[in-house]
Amino acid sequence: MSKKLFYNLLAVLMLASLVLAACGTPAAVATEAPAVDAPAMTEAPVAATEAPVMEAKMVGISMPTKTSTRWISDGESMVKVFEDLGYETDLQFADDDIPNQLAQIENMITKGADVLVIASIDGTTLSDVLQQAHDAGILVIAYDRLISKTANVDYYATFDNFGVGVIMGTQIETGLDLKNAAGPFNIELFGGSPDDTNAFYFYDGAMSVLQPYIDSGKLIVQSGQTGMDKVGTLRWDGIEAQKRMDNLLAKYYADKTVDAVLSPYDGLSIGILSALKAQGYGTGDQKMPVVTGQDAEVASVKSIIAGEQSYTVFKDTRELAKQTAAMVDAALKGTEVPINDTKTYDNGVKIVPSYLLIPFSVDITNYEELLIGSGYITADQLK
Ligand code: BGC
Repeated sequence: MSKKLFYNLLAVLMLASLVLAACGTPAAVATEAPAVDAPAMTEAPVAATEAPVMEAKMVGISMPTKTSTRWISDGESMVKVFEDLGYETDLQFADDDIPNQLAQIENMITKGADVLVIASIDGTTLSDVLQQAHDAGILVIAYDRLISKTANVDYYATFDNFGVGVIMGTQIETGLDLKNAAGPFNIELFGGSPDDTNAFYFYDGAMSVLQPYIDSGKLIVQSGQTGMDKVGTLRWDGIEAQKRMDNLLAKYYADKTVDAVLSPYDGLSIGILSALKAQGYGTGDQKMPVVTGQDAEVASVKSIIAGEQSYTVFKDTRELAKQTAAMVDAALKGTEVPINDTKTYDNGVKIVPSYLLIPFSVDITNYEELLIGSGYITADQLK
């Protein structure tokens, strides 16, 4: 080997070692890197395994009030069914106060809810907050009461609300035996809260049965007060109903007897019955008029047993909770959402796909079977 070749080879070898040495730096980093990354890498698979548990979907449940036992049952049933399906829940009651309900829903959105189930106080007030929900990709279900004036409501779970009204009208038809009796009979009409679309369905359903009798003169509304604008009761307030019944009795019934009162909610019926009792109805030969109601609340079932209120309508809130959870679960899993009505509930912006459950008429003859038999009310609660 020539000297030149030797020195050239030496130069190449030195260069190579320099290159190797230079590569050594990243190699050292590479050696250290796993040490730094190691804990993260060990944790990563654990975190990945735990992820589904940690990411249990959160359902915000916004109920309007605790003043009526039905909404308490709705809330409790929903917490149970959702938690049984592996969801987390945040249940809030808004004390019939609209700003309160809005704040509670906003808080649910901030806390990262994946789903909102809302029984609104006033179904027209939620457009802004539901825009926020939509922007956050949250699924929104209108629960029992329709949410109006927004596209950001995905589904509606409720009962056949017109059918509820038909039941009430039919109860009065049966209670007064309108098909056979000669009459005429005096009736007064009460409606629910005008900011709740249900109130209109109940009223229209009832009037679909009663109006022909009013038209023929077999039923007479002595006050002349008909139509939701005259008979509505804001916020379903029983005290307001009592006051209105007091006034009606004083003004139109000094020398007449009222034979029936259409009431769309047990809480109103209790107020109406108080006004009637104060005027002596239900004592001696002054018979209690036929008084309807809704929700099968304990106080009203007791009143039915005592022979005061005549009827109520049973809507099994446990079933509504189950149905709602099934709809949410299907929507989140991307499977077919169970609905049975795509025509009725136009909220002013769109027709909200709905599931309507069946309501039942309750009176003294079937309350045991329907309410106690199904476990909705216990015999003890009625003592
Ligand atoms: C519900 C009724 C209830 C009423 C008053 C309505 O929206 O459908 O069941 O009686 O509100 O709470």
